[in-house]
Amino acid sequence: MKRLVILGAGYGGLTLAQKLDSLSKGHNNWKVTLVDHRDYHLIQVRIHEVAANSVPASQIKIPLSQLLNGHKVESIQAKVLKIDPVGRTVETTSGTINYDRLVIALGSVTDFHNIPGLQEHAFAMKTLEDAISYRKAVIEAFRNATATGAEPLRKNDPRLTFAIIGGGLTGTELAGEMVDFCNDLCKKVPAARHAYRIVLAELAPRLLPELEPESGEYAMNDLRRKNVAILTNSGIDQVVPGSVHLMNGKTIKSNVICWAGGIKAQPLIKESGFNTTRDGRVEVNHYLRSKQFESVYVIGDSAFIHDGRNGKPVPQTGQYAELQAGYLAKCFANEQPDVKPEPYVPFSMGISISLGRGEALSLSGPLKLTGIPGRVVKDLSYTKHELGVRNVLPEVRLG
Ligand SMILES: Cc1cc2nc3c(=O)[nH]c(=O)nc-3n(C[C@H](O)[C@H](O)[C@H](O)COP(=O)(O)OP(=O)(O)OC[C@H]3O[C@@H](n4cnc5c(N)ncnc54)[C@H](O)[C@@H]3O)c2cc1C
Repeated sequence: MKRLVILGAGYGGLTLAQKLDSLSKGHNNWKVTLVDHRDYHLIQVRIHEVAANSVPASQIKIPLSQLLNGHKVESIQAKVLKIDPVGRTVETTSGTINYDRLVIALGSVTDFHNIPGLQEHAFAMKTLEDAISYRKAVIEAFRNATATGAEPLRKNDPRLTFAIIGGGLTGTELAGEMVDFCNDLCKKVPAARHAYRIVLAELAPRLLPELEPESGEYAMNDLRRKNVAILTNSGIDQVVPGSVHLMNGKTIKSNVICWAGGIKAQPLIKESGFNTTRDGRVEVNHYLRSKQFESVYVIGDSAFIHDGRNGKPVPQTGQYAELQAGYLAKCFANEQPDVKPEPYVPFSMGISISLGRGEALSLSGPLKLTGIPGRVVKDLSYTKHELGVRNVLPEVRLG
């Protein structure tokens, strides 16, 4: 039996391992090995909710042992160090793994873009550890600023100014969540109510530059209504302790700074000899196969996939990663010598952007839901993923 090794048990990798096993029941052509350095699957799309104390960390990590129970998948907990795509091996902290076919689904990491002081003085928002550190820092900022003997609070106090840099999906969702978190904290220390400030700075002329303009307008108006200061056309120059210096000469004085302005693929991919885009992704063909190495496929945030219909790259989202995994599972399960599979066609069911605990903007084709109905759709998207990986959702066939 040939060995298929999947690197990463996130949205793409875990889904592929589970679906391939389900589709191949009884006549599995592949011995499947799933490698991840964590022993849990992270519901990454909710980490900003942990950061703002809306959900406990335990709610967004599901042990892989639970999710793979009953599946014929070998799970190895190890950090991937290097890939040898010529020798068909993967070097990990638990030794070398040989493969016949490899799927890279290693997600992405924060890209600090070499901005001076950024990595040293700002929190990232990519891992569970990032979210927990940020949450602690916000609570500590409130505690210190209102401690006995602390200097009196003033309006827009830098000690209670929370600067979020990057107004894409992550930054915008975090800003909405922070409104609720600060409100909660002010219930305990009412004196802080007129002193705290949330600032969201974005390089582009509007929020959510990856979506169509109306979404950014909607999010901007909603957050401004909740007293979030939105600065557009505001790229950053450097970060020093307590301040963000913008390219336009302005400064945001803030003790707790969060960088939500960029991601890149895992550097180990480029270091392993793959040709990559500037942000470290591997360009794949219409079958999600590396253009350079025949036995390697790449999905999710690690892949650069060109959508021939609109000339744009396929967005890096959990939803796309899962659908790419479903596509590969079908191809691998039904593979026959000399028969080409159907090419991958990017498809999206829409997108939901949370703007706080009780509301979201949900867009699906011409359908736009806001407020509580939008939030219901957002929560359904979380539930759908969780029930899917827990294997309690009937298979929905599209097309
Ligand atoms: C705050 C936030 C909000 C988001 N909101 C949404 C949203 O609303 N909707 C949406 O669709 N998407 C959203 N996303 C994006 C989404 O989370 C990602 O696009 C998705 O997780 C990518 O899936 P993936 O399988 O490529 O990678 P991941 O899900 O990140 O999985 C990668 C896996 O690889 C493992 N790994 C990485 N490096 C190594 C290594 N060296 N060795 C071993 N294992 C390794 C990791 O532990 C992880 O399990 C959001 C992201 C963030 C940060």
